[in-house]
Amino acid sequence: MFPDHDIFDAPDFQGTKFTNSRTAVIFHNDFLLHDTGNHPENAKRLVVIKDALERENFGDSINWIEPDLCSEDDLFRCHTRAQVERIRLANQKSIENDGRLVHLDSDTPVSAGTFNAAKRAVGASCKAIDLILEENFQNVWALVRPPGHHATSERSMGFCIFNNVACAAEYARAKHGLKRIMIVDIDLHHGNGTQDIFYSDPGILYSSIHQSYHFPGTGHIDEIGSSDGKGYTVNFPVLAGSGNGEFAIYGRQIIAPIASQYLPQLLIVSFGIDAHVMDPLGALQVSTEYFAKMVTLFRAIASDLGIGIFFALEGGYSLSALSETMVECMHASVADYFDPGSLPMPYRPSPVSQDTFDRLVSALSGYWRL
Ligand SMILES: [Zn+2]
Repeated sequence: MFPDHDIFDAPDFQGTKFTNSRTAVIFHNDFLLHDTGNHPENAKRLVVIKDALERENFGDSINWIEPDLCSEDDLFRCHTRAQVERIRLANQKSIENDGRLVHLDSDTPVSAGTFNAAKRAVGASCKAIDLILEENFQNVWALVRPPGHHATSERSMGFCIFNNVACAAEYARAKHGLKRIMIVDIDLHHGNGTQDIFYSDPGILYSSIHQSYHFPGTGHIDEIGSSDGKGYTVNFPVLAGSGNGEFAIYGRQIIAPIASQYLPQLLIVSFGIDAHVMDPLGALQVSTEYFAKMVTLFRAIASDLGIGIFFALEGGYSLSALSETMVECMHASVADYFDPGSLPMPYRPSPVSQDTFDRLVSALSGYWRL
């Protein structure tokens, strides 16, 4: 049976005061130079977010930070030399053709500024890790593009060039010696690249909620990892039309209990906003308010564990959804307190979602108590 309202009436968390609300936002104008023209993943996405955050006047509660380019090592921990070279050459070709786009596949263009933007996006993601682990920030947002979660170790695809969150996770291990990192992907699409890179790796737990029967076609319940990584991949595919209720179940019935059993030392969120009800590419119906509630929930989970959160922007293609969602999420990010009502609260979901949840619990029963 699905949990009914009353299960969620009391907070599951030890306190409602956050001990740390330090928030940083990483941004660089190079991200705008990945110039994709009329493509849905275009530079306007970041421009509207930045404008909206500046208009809202967060003042000293947000630290704006500019990242460096990443090093080659930061790329090669996750990507083959051949892949990085392919991107460099495509970028070179675009420069030689006056910035004309070079297509890696039908979805994924490279412009004259792409290689730098993509290296800067990985640099931003590694910087986020340092800010959390060396400078005691609790929440670090990287407002980056190109996005990353579809990029595998040898293939850039699905609007993504390099896998920003995967590079950040490997950086956290290499530079800071972390042993357990949890990546939660709430983008509408399944993060096939991130899953693939860590599929047999118990040191990185990857979990995703995504619209089923949608690009890239991966992320089934029975994809739970391989060899030593079995149980460390957790997929919750939901049908078109799903929304807040399913996100609440995902956050409180799947992510919260797994986090409390896995005890990650760092939480990374692949923060796509394409599950928003206004998004033109997807058919999930998550509201602006619910994205902010998910941020509060992630903060409550992280607070209980005494760890920081790296939020990496992935997709999201409605300009108004992007700007209003990021403003609300930033308020949730800098808040010092939360009341239990500001956590996600599920209604009774559809029988199909209930069945999906039941099958997920059963697929993971040897690994997690859900
Ligand atoms: Zn997406």
